[in-house]
Amino acid sequence: RGGPKNLPIAEVFIGDDDTEESRAMKEKPRLVVLGGGWGGVALLKDLNPDEYHITVISPTNYFLFTPMLPSATVGTLELRSLVEPIRRILHRCRGHFIRAQAEDVEFSHKLVEVSQRDVNGQEVRFYVPYDKLVIAVGSTTNPHGVKGLEHAFFLKNVDDARKIRNRVIQNFELACLPTTSDEERKRLLSFVVSGGGPTGVEFAAELYDLLNEDLSRHFPRLLRNEISVHIIQSRSHILNTYDEAVSKYAEERFSRDQVDVLTNSRVKEVKEDKIIFSQKLEDGSVVTKELPTGFCLWSTGVSPTAFSTTLAKKLGDAQTNRHALETDTHLRLNGAPLGDVYAIGDCSTVQNNVANHIITFLRTLAWKQGKDPETIQLHFSDWRYVAQDVRKRFPQASEHLKRLDKLFEEFDKDKSGTLDFGELRELLGQIDKKLTSLPATAQRAHQQGQYLAHKFNKMARLSQGLLANDVKDGDLDAAAYKAFEYHHLGSLAYIGNSAVFDLGEGWNISGGLWAVYTWRSVYFAQSVSFRTRMLMAMDWAKRGLFGREFCD
Ligand code: FAD
Ligand code: MG
Ligand code: MG
Ligand code: MG
Ligand code: MG
Repeated sequence: RGGPKNLPIAEVFIGDDDTEESRAMKEKPRLVVLGGGWGGVALLKDLNPDEYHITVISPTNYFLFTPMLPSATVGTLELRSLVEPIRRILHRCRGHFIRAQAEDVEFSHKLVEVSQRDVNGQEVRFYVPYDKLVIAVGSTTNPHGVKGLEHAFFLKNVDDARKIRNRVIQNFELACLPTTSDEERKRLLSFVVSGGGPTGVEFAAELYDLLNEDLSRHFPRLLRNEISVHIIQSRSHILNTYDEAVSKYAEERFSRDQVDVLTNSRVKEVKEDKIIFSQKLEDGSVVTKELPTGFCLWSTGVSPTAFSTTLAKKLGDAQTNRHALETDTHLRLNGAPLGDVYAIGDCSTVQNNVANHIITFLRTLAWKQGKDPETIQLHFSDWRYVAQDVRKRFPQASEHLKRLDKLFEEFDKDKSGTLDFGELRELLGQIDKKLTSLPATAQRAHQQGQYLAHKFNKMARLSQGLLANDVKDGDLDAAAYKAFEYHHLGSLAYIGNSAVFDLGEGWNISGGLWAVYTWRSVYFAQSVSFRTRMLMAMDWAKRGLFGREFCD
C-alpha cells in the first residue's frame, strides 16, 4: 500500500522472478498506457517490444475500428469483424492488460489511481505505478444538456451498435404486425438522427441503403413511403467541417434520396415516441416542432471524459482549455513533470503558444538593445525575419505563413505601415488558433500514437548513451525527437452508395461501397490486422451474395 490515499499498489510483472525474461522486464522503464483506442493502439503497434515494460489500462478489452461502426449497425458488417482484442495486440510487445478505469493521477508519486468492480460487484481502487504515462482515453458523447437522452441511442462502441441494430429490427417487426395501426407504423418507421457530422450522416446513409436494398425482400408488407429518415442539424449545413462543395453534394444527394435534412434546428427534448425541436426560419423567427419517431440517434459531437476533467482541474492554471487536455508540441501534458506524462488523441490538444514564445523572444531582444519593447514597431522586413524564426521553431505553422505581405497588411490595423506588439500578438495568436484546432479523428490519434512510439524507441536507444549530457534542462524529448506535426490526409464520408472525399485541395466523388472500403483500408492499413481485413472481406462477400442478415 502507499501513495496519498494509502491504496494497494499493483506491481504488474510476468510470472515469478525466476525466469531470465521476467527479471529483465523488471529492469525496464514502466510505460503505462490509458486507453486501447486509436491513439493507444497506434502507439503499441510501433513500439519496440524490448525497451519498456508495458501495461495497458482500459475498461474495454478490444480495439474498435470506429470508421466502420455505422455499417455494423445495419448489418453490412459483422460487429466482431471490427474489433481486435487488446491482449492479442499486446502479445507482440509482451505487455500486460488491466481491465479497469483510470480515475486520477498522483503526478508527484507517479501513480495512476484506477477503479474496477471485484467479484462481488464492489468497487475496488488501487494504484498502478509508472515511469512514463500515456493518456489516450478518448472522449464521451456531448449531451448538450438535452432532456430525455435515456430514450436516445449513441454510437461509440460495440454495445451501442448492437443496441441500435436490435432496435431497428424490432421496429420493423412491430411495424409488420397486423395489429399495428397506420399511424403507429409510420412512427415506428420514422428514424431521426440528431447531428449532421460524419457519424450521423454515415448512419443515415447506411440506414437508407438498407431500406432500399434489403427491405422489400425481407419485409414485403412494408411500403417504402411509410419509412422516413430525418437528420436534425443545428448549423445551416450538414458536414459543416468539410469543404463547402462536399457538404452541398451531400445535401443534394440526400434530398434526391428523400432523406429529410432539417438545418438550423436544435433538439430540445427526446421523448419515448417523439422528438421536440426548435427550428430557426429564414425570417429569423424560431418555431417549436414535434416529430413522431421510433428511433433517435444522438451524435452531436464530443466532450471530455470525467477522468480528463479531473486531471485538468488538478493541474490548475497549466490547463486552460475546457474541451481537451493541453500538451506542448512534444505531446507532454502541460503542468505535469516534464517527460513523465503524455496525452494523445481525442482527449488532447496541442498548445503551441506561438504568440507568447515569439513576443518573449522579441522583448528580450529589445531589452538587450536598450529599447523599450512596448514602443517597438516592426517594418515589413522585420516581420519577414520574425516569420522566418516562427517557421524554424514551429514548422507546422509554415503553411499558415505563406502570404507574408497579406498578413502584414491585414494585421496592421492602424495602417501605420508597421506592426506594433499588440498587432503582432494578434497575428501570431490567429496562427496559434489554426494550429491548436486538431480534429477529433482516428487519423489524428493514429499519427500521435505513432509519433510517441517512434520517439520512445529513440529515447530508449539513447538513454544510456551520450544524450543525457547534451540535454539542456533535462529536456530529453526535445533533444531526441522533433516536435509533433499533423499531416491532414483528407476526410471522407459515405453518402448513399458514394463516397465524398475532402482532400484539402479541391474534392472529388467516387462511386460505390468498394471505393470507400478500399480507400479506408489503404488509409488505415497499418492499424487493421490481417485477421480484421479477412473478416471484413468475408462480410462484404457474404453481403454481396446473400444481402444483409436481418434477424436477432
Ligand atoms: P478512442 O479510440 O475512443 O479510445 C479511447 C479508449 O480509452 C477506449 O479504449 C476507452 O475504453 C478507453 N477509456 C475511456 N475512459 C478511460 C479511463 N478512464 N481509463 C482508461 N481507459 C479509458 N475518425 C476518422 O478519422 N475517420 C472516420 O471515418 C471516423 N469515423 C467514426 C465513426 C464513429 C461511429 C465514431 C464514434 C468515431 C469515428 N471517428 C472517425 C473518430 C475516431 O474514432 C476517434 O477520433 C478516435 O477513436 C480517437 O482515438 P482515441 O485513441 O483518442 O480514443
Ligand atoms: Mg486510445
Ligand atoms: Mg477506438
Ligand atoms: Mg485520446
Ligand atoms: Mg500598425
